[in-house]
Amino acid sequence: MAKVSVCMNWLDACAGCEMSFLDIDERIVELLKHVDLLSTPITDLKHPPVGGCDVGILSGAVSDSHQEEVALEMRERCKILIALGDCAVTGGICTMRNFFPLQSVLNRAYVESESNAPGQKVPNAPEIAKLHQQVKAVDQIVKVDIYLPGCPPPADAIWYVLTELLAGRTPVLTDKVLTYD
Ligand code: SF4
Repeated sequence: MAKVSVCMNWLDACAGCEMSFLDIDERIVELLKHVDLLSTPITDLKHPPVGGCDVGILSGAVSDSHQEEVALEMRERCKILIALGDCAVTGGICTMRNFFPLQSVLNRAYVESESNAPGQKVPNAPEIAKLHQQVKAVDQIVKVDIYLPGCPPPADAIWYVLTELLAGRTPVLTDKVLTYD
């Protein structure tokens, strides 16, 4: 039987969701018998293959123009898209900046922060991604098929979702699966 191809990427994220994925521990060996992990932050391959993949996984919120491009590309190239973690599902902790005007957020980070040298400016080079006015959940940009909340989601829940998909079933995320320490 052909392996299931999986691509992952992170948007506005802290890597905690990917750490939780790695927390499935030795089960990853079993998983890799059935799954080809293509582009992932773990392998540092940035783009899903042009020919597409079976499952795409995005962690993190969509906060800037680059992250929006990453989300659009993943959606275009995967059959099933999983939003992994609270930031992807709701915007999560990243949405804290939505309470403030964008320019004041930039000024605070680049100009006013106590650790900045005097005279710093907000960088504005064309190659730097532009922050969106508001941080968004992934499904405000692209269609999401499976929502896996948690900050981060428990490793067992990630394992459950992946193994259900491998078995050809749609994962049902009950409170038994979504338990948090
Ligand atoms: S959901 Fe939590 S662990 Fe995952 S990227 Fe967001 S802050 Fe990090």
